[in-house]
Amino acid sequence: MGDQALTEIARRLVDAVRPGDTVARLGGDEFGIVLAPAFERDALTAAERVIAAVNQPFTAGAKEMTPTVSVGIATARPATMHPDSLLADADLAMYFAKRSGRGRHAVFTPAMRTALVEQLQLGEELRSALAGDGIEVHYQPIVDLRSGAVVGAEALARWQHPARGFVPPATFIPLAEELGLVQEIDAQVLRRACEQGQRWRAAGITDLRLAVNLSGRNLEDAELVERVMRILRETEFPADQLELELTEGVSIAESARASSLLEELHQRGIRLAIDDFGTGYSALGRLRSLPFDRLKVDKTFVDEINGAGGRSSLLETMVHMAHVLGLEVVAEGVETPAQEEYLRQHGCDFGQGYLFSKPVTAEELSAVLAETQPQAAAQAG
Ligand SMILES: [Mg+2]
Repeated sequence: MGDQALTEIARRLVDAVRPGDTVARLGGDEFGIVLAPAFERDALTAAERVIAAVNQPFTAGAKEMTPTVSVGIATARPATMHPDSLLADADLAMYFAKRSGRGRHAVFTPAMRTALVEQLQLGEELRSALAGDGIEVHYQPIVDLRSGAVVGAEALARWQHPARGFVPPATFIPLAEELGLVQEIDAQVLRRACEQGQRWRAAGITDLRLAVNLSGRNLEDAELVERVMRILRETEFPADQLELELTEGVSIAESARASSLLEELHQRGIRLAIDDFGTGYSALGRLRSLPFDRLKVDKTFVDEINGAGGRSSLLETMVHMAHVLGLEVVAEGVETPAQEEYLRQHGCDFGQGYLFSKPVTAEELSAVLAETQPQAAAQAG
């Protein structure tokens, strides 16, 4: 089937280029195309043609498949350039194209080399941070908008880099995904959060719900349920006080394996939340068939409340529809009392954001909890 796919792709590539251009298979699933002579805009047009031509369904055996291709473009500089370095440049550009998503193209720039070296170094440092104690967990309180009480906290991975200082998750999580380290990070954060949750429970804070982020990569992994359950068993943290947050994505709704993994987790009492809702492409209706309990509305919608008119009709609709579907709603990124008031008035259940607290250490959260549950939290940090 693989051979059939390669033959079909080769045929499409030949069809997509001009007479006189050269197509070759470089090995594995890598092809090279030489456009000669060509300007960069010819190369861009060719890349778009190639991407469109390859991304068509075909049948091999009894299976229909739709291949995708990533294209790296490099231009030969006159005379001095060796073919090997031209290929290396194109290869590097392809790597960047691949990183930006499926079916994309990228044009080589020298800055890609520096960026790659930096990424490789940062990747190595992330590995050693994971092996050591380099990844910390901070907690951002989640507040019940009706009572104002802290009812939960989201556990967030923090990387305190020895030289660079704080590396934001937006930088290291995609890197970790690429290096296949993200499951390890998620598991470490989950374990530490559950251990801390048990400390809080032992100190009398028995109803705090802990939310832990789970990268979509975990849903490709059949061991996920066993891994989560083992951590719960070993830390003795109760399943029904754990909530796993998954960023919305088409893949969750479409993959049968992903939804059955979610179903299994849910059956064991773990709550599930859709994170950053509104940034992806999933329709609320599609989520109906999945076992989610909560919806976290992305900060961008809460930000709209600042604008002229001080409202967000999209947010109001989301809250309403989520409630119709039986989901609780958490607003992310609440920063002002006006936003809080607006959210409360429109029936949003929970809030999280700098208005209440930034992510803090376990000790700091203990202090916050001590204000509401004084006798309990004092010794829990
Ligand atoms: Mg989250």
